[in-house]
This record gives sequence, C-alpha cells and structure tokens, in this order.
Amino acid sequence: MATPPVEPFQDLSDQEVERRILAARASLGDQTIILGHHYQAEAVIRFADVIGDSYELAKKAAQSSARLIVFCGVHFMAESADILTRDDQTVVMPDLDAGCPMADMASRGEVEGAWVQLAELGRPDDLFLPVTYINSQADVKAFCGAHGGITCTSANAPKALRWALERRPKILFLPDQHLGRNTALAQGFRPEEIALWQPHLPLGGNTREGLARARILLWNGHCHVHSRFAVEHVAQARRDHPGAKVIVHPECCHEVVAASDLAGSTGVIVKVVKEAPAGSAWVIGTEVNLVSRLAREEPGKTILPLVSSMCPNMYKNSARDLLHVVENPGRINVVKVSGDVREPARLALQRMLDL
Ligand code: SF4
Repeated sequence: MATPPVEPFQDLSDQEVERRILAARASLGDQTIILGHHYQAEAVIRFADVIGDSYELAKKAAQSSARLIVFCGVHFMAESADILTRDDQTVVMPDLDAGCPMADMASRGEVEGAWVQLAELGRPDDLFLPVTYINSQADVKAFCGAHGGITCTSANAPKALRWALERRPKILFLPDQHLGRNTALAQGFRPEEIALWQPHLPLGGNTREGLARARILLWNGHCHVHSRFAVEHVAQARRDHPGAKVIVHPECCHEVVAASDLAGSTGVIVKVVKEAPAGSAWVIGTEVNLVSRLAREEPGKTILPLVSSMCPNMYKNSARDLLHVVENPGRINVVKVSGDVREPARLALQRMLDL
C-alpha cells in the first residue's frame, strides 16, 4: 500500500490543526480510542479519550474493542498495547521516534548474556525470576515471559516483587535500578541483599559471593528525567515552601525518595494531590507536564515542580503528528510486535494484569 503523502501541517495554524483533529476524530467514531499518558504535553493530551499512567493505559488497551488505538505516549507503551490487543486491532503512535532511553538500556542480547553468566551460581531458571518494568523493549518482556517472569509498572512493582519471590529465591529486575531498589527497600530488603548488574562488566561487576548473597539483582538502567532530582532540591523546596509536602516518583534515586514525604507511581501522585484538601501545598518530583497540568486542574492548591524536568521523548508527539495519524487511520505509524516476541511478551504482561 502506498504511503499517504505527508501534509504540510507545519503551515497550519493551531486552530486549523485542532479543527481537523476534531473532525477526523468525529468521523472515526467509537471504533477509535485515543489513549494519552500523563506526561504528554497539553497540546496533545486534550484530545485523549482516556488519560492515565502506563498501567492504566495498558489495562485500557487490553479491554478496548476499538479497531484503532492511537497511543499518545512512548514506543514501549504502544508496543504493550499492540501485544495486549487482537490481531484485527491496530495501534498507532503520533511519532514513532518517541522512544524511551531507559527502555533501551537493556537489550535482549545483554539480558541473555547476563543469564548465561548467572549460570555460575547454578541454573538461572531455578534461582532468578526476571521482572521487567513495563518501560522495556518488547523482546525483553518476551525474555521474561519465556523464563516464567512478569512485567510490572511503578503502580504494582511491590506486588510483582512479592509474586516473583513466591516462585524463585532471587529476582533480576530490569531495567530501572531505582524503581527496583526503592521497591525492594520499602519491602524490607537490606542494602546488602541488593546488587547492581552492570551489563558491560564480567559478572555484572560483582563477585560470585556478592551475587550468591543478593536477593535482588538490579539492572543498571535509569530514567534521565527522574535522575535529575537531587536531595539538595528537596532541601531547597523545604526551605522555600515550609509546610509543603514533597512527593516523588520511585524512578528517583533512593536518597531523594528517602528525603521526601511520599513516593508513588504517577497514578498515586495524581490521586494523592487531587484528594488533598484545598489550600494544601505540594512539591512534586516527576515529569513537568504532569505537574503543570495538576497545577491548572487544582487551582485551590499550591502545586510546584521539585525542578522542571521534561521528558523530551514524550514531547516528540505533537498535535500535528496526531492530526497526521487520525487523518490516515491505521495507514501510518503502525506499531506491530512480531509473532515470535508477541506471545511470550503477552504472557509477561498478562501475569501483571492478573496480579
Ligand atoms: S519519563 Fe523517563 S522512563 Fe518515562 S518515557 Fe521519559 S525517559 Fe522513559
């Protein structure tokens, strides 16, 4: 099928872009659903039928019967939506280049290499259960699914860890070391039971004894948006806004989580701040588009970013990109996960949805 010509959307006014998105959306009817992640810019998310974090949107995609799912988020989210939907449903993204650097920090080859090295301790499939954050490539999810493992999000990481440890004595947690460490420490693991796997070093930079001692082995990945937050920012926020509560995402490093009043997934941050009493003050350590939206939606509260940290990848999706995909439904920017990866990855995702 010929690729439709790219329209010169850059020449359109914002009003014209909006008018055409609404017209295209109306003509697509209920056979189309637009899902928008909380970190999307206002110019895009205002067209979303459902707004949520990665867990809520994965669930929504799995339940949806729409023939076309427009996923305004980053690539791993659209992949997960495709894996969880039927073959006759099509998932598209406004901009296929909207990726996630953290997801790219663990490749299937690197994970398989780690598995081979972990055989030093015994049969890895008897010792380790692989748990991957949903912020991962589809073939890493497939690796987890094929080895009895599970996907998690920041909303259900504690449950996923418990689920995993009921099945095997140790966990390999991919790819976000901070979510893994924060979750493990909150569940009572001691720091010496947690080790870091650096994929380019022999034994991941560990000794054999260190690996034998570790219950939780963390992949050396991180989110650069949340790694920007530092303990000094929390201290500064407390000086500048005495009385404000500091709430951060568990993708922040443990020192920042420990210095804050609360830590929670994107969905938890939204819920806590929305349910807080009028007049309360919040300093939030997560992606700034969400913080700005909460500030607009909750005018009776003081809501400030810990520091302004934007995800440039989420920001790649523009209203003009959205117009392009809704005017060419199912013909461009299709995200399709191949057959051999699809089933084991679906297994890992389904185990998470069944938690
Ligand atoms: S905020 Fe971080 S984890 Fe989320 S998409 Fe952006 S880079 Fe990836």
